[in-house]
Amino acid sequence: MGATQRDCAVVIIGAGPCGLTLAIELGRRRIPVIVLEERTSRARFPAANATQARTMEHYRRLGFADEIRAQGLPPDYPTDIAYFDRYTRHELARFRLPSSRTARDIVKTLSGAWSAAELPHRCSQMYVERVLRAHAEAMETVSIRTGWRAMAVRQTADAVAVEAEQIDPVGQDIKPASGAANPGSGQHQILRASYAIGADGGGSPTRKALGYELVGESGIVRDFMGGRMFAMHLRSPDLYRVIPHAPAWQYWAVNRERRAVLISLNGRDEFVVHTQLTPGQQAGQISNAAAIAMFHVVLGAELDVELIARSTWNAGYTLVAEKFQHGRILLAGDAVHLFTPTGGLGYNTAVEDAVNLGWKLAAALKGWAGAGLIDSYECERQAIARRNTGYARKFADSVGLFIPPPELEDDSEAGETARKRAGEHLDAHARFEFNIPGITFGGRYDGSPIIVSDGTLPPPDTVNDYVPTACPGGRAPHLWLEDGRSLYDALGLEFTVLRLGPSPRDATQFAAAAATLGIPLATVHLASEEARDLYEADLALIRPDQIVAWRGDASADAMDVLRRASGHLSCY
Ligand SMILES: Cc1cc2nc3c(=O)[nH]c(=O)nc-3n(C[C@H](O)[C@H](O)[C@H](O)COP(=O)(O)OP(=O)(O)OC[C@H]3O[C@@H](n4cnc5c(N)ncnc54)[C@H](O)[C@@H]3O)c2cc1C
Repeated sequence: MGATQRDCAVVIIGAGPCGLTLAIELGRRRIPVIVLEERTSRARFPAANATQARTMEHYRRLGFADEIRAQGLPPDYPTDIAYFDRYTRHELARFRLPSSRTARDIVKTLSGAWSAAELPHRCSQMYVERVLRAHAEAMETVSIRTGWRAMAVRQTADAVAVEAEQIDPVGQDIKPASGAANPGSGQHQILRASYAIGADGGGSPTRKALGYELVGESGIVRDFMGGRMFAMHLRSPDLYRVIPHAPAWQYWAVNRERRAVLISLNGRDEFVVHTQLTPGQQAGQISNAAAIAMFHVVLGAELDVELIARSTWNAGYTLVAEKFQHGRILLAGDAVHLFTPTGGLGYNTAVEDAVNLGWKLAAALKGWAGAGLIDSYECERQAIARRNTGYARKFADSVGLFIPPPELEDDSEAGETARKRAGEHLDAHARFEFNIPGITFGGRYDGSPIIVSDGTLPPPDTVNDYVPTACPGGRAPHLWLEDGRSLYDALGLEFTVLRLGPSPRDATQFAAAAATLGIPLATVHLASEEARDLYEADLALIRPDQIVAWRGDASADAMDVLRRASGHLSCY
């Protein structure tokens, strides 16, 4: 497996949101990549519903946040979360959230916890993936091989070999990566590369082949969101007419017969509904008519609907892999963490894995990474996976362990009291689960070997509040620039040194050290007092993933700082 024989630099197994984002991160750095995806159909079950604000900020950095924000619901459709006993009966609680147009307009006016370049976008993964796929395909150095399955991955000290089989001859090589042979159809091929990434989902054959276990809790039982789930993708032009309440993005049904969550996909006629199977109920034995009858129970009415697709999944996982890396084989996304989808964190955590790994792989391949840079991926992302799966579990407990009282649906005084009490619980729950700047912006890499601590402590990690801080290890605090751009729009592709305040320190030592180490470094001057106050330092070093690597008032130790941040020093 010598350098001359390589088909590409990185083979990515899986073209879900994780694999596609990683391909885009590598493609924009002109790294040759082959993505293997066994699924031939581009249609996918709707799955994830929410792109969190931090993921939207990454999409903005990658250049397509507006394109993503245009997907899904119409621009003026409210993204309310509403709770009912049954959808045609009593509304119990409603958490009002803005439409995508309002979200784009108000972001520039927000401060404090929501001081951000982007707000969340509530839209199905099936639409998001189309955009990710189109951008990955447009990259000159990225080749996506649809209908190709990775069968085995082997490695030596300096290379990997991925055995791939074309399982569906309809799948075609969309564009050969530089140097890669066009595989033709029905083929078996060994792809040689420097790294292989298992972004191959919850069943991850790559993780299993490495022998890494998922550690944590599974099989949690709850009244809802704890057990075997049954999902239906429905088409119904009449559903809005039948539901006598204001439109919402998520409609939760809370009653003692059947619970469910219905999500509007396009604001017109497409929906997904998830309900929980009763113990012993087998999805395979549920006819389409019986499935639709389950929907009628939560609707509280009969209505002709078209069943586009159906699926099953498990709610109640809080699982993180014991290892994310074995030499040149790395794992990311659902391959290494499985969530209960409450909080909408699974896909977002998968995208952030790709963001963290992308620049590190590219740096290693371009020769400016130290030996410890890629190894820092597991240390940084495993801790976040444990944190985020833990938060998702709390949300699932908060909504799923709530037991509706027997009189909830009664048209009586007792029923009204029960609905009021249920509404109070659900209202508080909605604010807990769906207003989460603390989770989305507050993920940190404290203790990472490539973060240079300045001895300060970050604010406590909380769900619903985020205190912007430039304490090294967290997201670079955001601000809007005088010319209307986001600070993030001004950062370089790789590292950036910020010079802060009206009389900034000299940063030439950073530029000189970066040149010596071959590290691409941009310098940005933020002349306002506000910026200096926000960062509480004269200088700050921002990583390619917009994490503060270091802050300080002198650049005398620039060489040490950059060596540490690029993985050349294992301890500082
Ligand atoms: C009902 C439901 C609701 C959800 N809601 C949310 C939400 O609101 N927010 C959120 O953040 N997350 C949510 N999730 C989770 C989200 O869907 C996943 O976390 C996300 O898809 C993970 O992305 P991934 O790229 O890691 O894996 P996947 O999307 O699973 O992609 C892996 C890909 O690898 C391919 N593959 C597997 N093996 C091979 C092989 N050997 N060779 C080639 N290809 C292979 C698969 O075909 C697949 O396309 C939800 C999930 C479910 C089920």
